[in-house]
Amino acid sequence: HLSTRLLTVAKYVPVGARLADIGSDHAYLPAYLGLNDKISYAVAGEVVEGPYLNALHEIKKEGLAKKIMVRLADGLEAVSEKDAIDTITICGMGGPLICHILTEGKSKLENKPNLILQPNVGEWQVRKWLNENNYQILTEEIIDEDKHIYEIIVATWKEERDRLTAEDYLFGPVLRKEKNSVFIRKWEQEQKKLQHILSEIQKAHQVPLKQKKALKNKIRKIGDVLNG
Ligand code: SAM
Repeated sequence: HLSTRLLTVAKYVPVGARLADIGSDHAYLPAYLGLNDKISYAVAGEVVEGPYLNALHEIKKEGLAKKIMVRLADGLEAVSEKDAIDTITICGMGGPLICHILTEGKSKLENKPNLILQPNVGEWQVRKWLNENNYQILTEEIIDEDKHIYEIIVATWKEERDRLTAEDYLFGPVLRKEKNSVFIRKWEQEQKKLQHILSEIQKAHQVPLKQKKALKNKIRKIGDVLNG
C-alpha cells in the first residue's frame, strides 16, 4: 500500500543499502524496503513523538525490528558512524527544512551517502544545496498522485560535479530537458497563477515596480522553458 510517491523514491535506493530515512512518520518507506529485502539495514528517524510511535508500531508489526532501528531524534542526529549509512532519504517536507537537516547534520555526511530527496515545496533550494555541497544530481522524477505534483531528486557525491544555473535550480537540470507531461502541467499552472497575481498587482499603485518586474521575469522564464 505504498504511495506512488514513496515507490518512486524506493526505486532509487540501491539494493543492499544501509538507509537512513529521516522524518519517517509511519516508516512506510523503510518497512517496504525491508519487507522486500531491498536493504540490509535502516534507521527510521523521527523528531516528533506521535510519528515516532507510529514508526515503532509499524516496524514491530511487520517483524522488522532486527533490521530497522526506530529512533527519536532531530534530523541526522538519529544516526551515528556505527550505522555506516550509505543512503539517506528525506521525503515529504519543505525544501528549506530538508536543507536545514542536511546542513545541521554535515558531520554525518562525511562518508558521502547517496541522497534521495522529495521536497514538497522549494525544490530549487534543495538543488542549490546539493550543487553547493558537492552533490551531483543523477536523476529526477516528476509525478502526480491524488492531484499533487511531486519531484524526486537523486544525488551522489562527486568532486567535479556539473555547475547548475538558476534555471536548473528552479526547473531541475534533468526535468527541464525531459519536459514530460507532468512537468508541462506544473509549470503551465504556475505560469497561470503568476499571471493572475501580476494582473492583480498591476492595478495596485503601492506595489513597487521592482516587484512587478521580478514577477514578469519569472513568467517569461517559465515561458522560455515551456516553449524552448
Ligand atoms: N517521510 C514520510 C513521507 O514522505 O511520507 C513522512 C512525511 S511527514 C509529512 C514529515 C515528517 O517529518 C513528520 O513526521 C515530522 O515529524 C518529521 N520531521 C520534521 N522535522 C524533522 C526533523 N528535524 N527530524 C526528524 N523528523 C522531522
